Amino acid sequence: MLNFKEVKAELSTPKKIVIIPHKTPDADALGSSLGLRGYLIKKGHHVQVISPTDYPKFLNWMEGNETVRIYNSDHNNECSRQIENADIVFCLDFNNLARIDELGLLVEKSAAKKFLIDHHLDPKCFADFSLISTDASATAELIYEFIVKMGDRELIDKPISECLYAGIMTDTGQFKHNNTHQNVHYVTANLMELGADTPRVASLIYDTNSYDRLKFIGYALSQRLKYLPEYHTAYIAINANDLEKFNSKTGDTEGLVNYALSLDGVVLGVLISERGGEIKLSMRSKGDFSVNEFARKHFNGGGHKNAAGGSSDATFEETVSRFEEIIKTYKEELNQIADANN
Ligand code: 5GP
Ligand code: MN
Repeated sequence: MLNFKEVKAELSTPKKIVIIPHKTPDADALGSSLGLRGYLIKKGHHVQVISPTDYPKFLNWMEGNETVRIYNSDHNNECSRQIENADIVFCLDFNNLARIDELGLLVEKSAAKKFLIDHHLDPKCFADFSLISTDASATAELIYEFIVKMGDRELIDKPISECLYAGIMTDTGQFKHNNTHQNVHYVTANLMELGADTPRVASLIYDTNSYDRLKFIGYALSQRLKYLPEYHTAYIAINANDLEKFNSKTGDTEGLVNYALSLDGVVLGVLISERGGEIKLSMRSKGDFSVNEFARKHFNGGGHKNAAGGSSDATFEETVSRFEEIIKTYKEELNQIADANN
């Protein structure tokens, strides 16, 4: 747990601060980063958010979005320099430096004090200060707690509250998943009091589909969804050609995995996608099947018990057949959990 006396001392004079979300940041990673940025700027610090990669367009409304530097585009040297010269680096919504690719090495080498704020399972300890709670629904919930414990609740304004609300709304699956505990509603009520226009945030995230994206979702469900009833598993495998055909952008596959999980009786839903030469797996489960363990064991990944991700070095086709082979070894467990879920 964080010693707030020490943290307050660290942040008592203006500092050069870098904030880093995980690669391909989602609403929680980016919302936490920009929400924290807004707060730290009000405290008089110089703040730079550096993202390891680009992120979905439906997050572009967040205040400070235009100041985010994307590593691996045209800012590599500046980003490296900023991390090297930072007094403090905040790592948000990940717990293992491998999740930020090459930036991991730069953070490791930097003499900056490292702060980690996160809610994923099995953290690798690399930080000087950690605020970790695997019970938290979202990193954004922890950022709210962080600001409150710093004694600065009144510094949370409308733009900050909306960044944090976006993280909580999406990481709880719109307040539907089993991480939606009482404190989620308590924090959300506070964010609303502090200005968050919650229908506006929901609309900016969920009602801004392109025509191409909607047609792509239709195609994925009609042509690429595979149901394995024997294993209570459904998966959607999307290759690079599929993405090209629908002019797919970063973020267009987000949420697709939930359709696989929504099939009646399914315990495990998976999205296998091939983008930019990388094979990525996105996994969701119902009940006691731990996709965190599954992703860790077979796909060099991790996450939460019911939502995790990983990657594969094999080709797309090999990954799909490997996945189908692996699933066979879980038949008994998946059947038992399906029975228990009923
Ligand atoms: P998503 O499927 O939405 O990309 O990710 C689901 C959850 O798993 C998120 O909390 C995300 O941070 C985590 N996650 C996704 N991909 C990876 C990965 O490759 N490695 C690890 N450790 N976690 C991942
Ligand atoms: Mn998160």
